[in-house]
Amino acid sequence: MDIKQTQQQLSKFASDRDWEQFHTPKNLTMALSVEASELVEIFQWLTPEQSSNLSNKQINAVNEEVADVAIYLLRLCDVLGINLSDVVENKIKVNGDKYPVDLSKGNAKKYNQRED
Ligand SMILES: [Mg+2]
Repeated sequence: MDIKQTQQQLSKFASDRDWEQFHTPKNLTMALSVEASELVEIFQWLTPEQSSNLSNKQINAVNEEVADVAIYLLRLCDVLGINLSDVVENKIKVNGDKYPVDLSKGNAKKYNQRED
């Protein structure tokens, strides 16, 4: 996926419908949260085993919600002028510093709850 091209496609989609007026950072953030919750809803009450063995119907639903989450995230970044590639790359580095392999391997503790 070409992020910039997809953002332009989403911008045109909104513009063609005169929806830019609704695509404020606040509204886009709320929509992103709603879509993330719709994704969570699919997994709600499933056992760990069931969550790893989804039916085709469930996989299709996951695909739709993942796309919705990505669309709102891309749109939010576009509206706020955030370079998604740059911030993700930076955050991976930050996480690497917070979770060095020797202290974190096989350990799910949050970095500030580790005893090192
Ligand atoms: Mg949805």
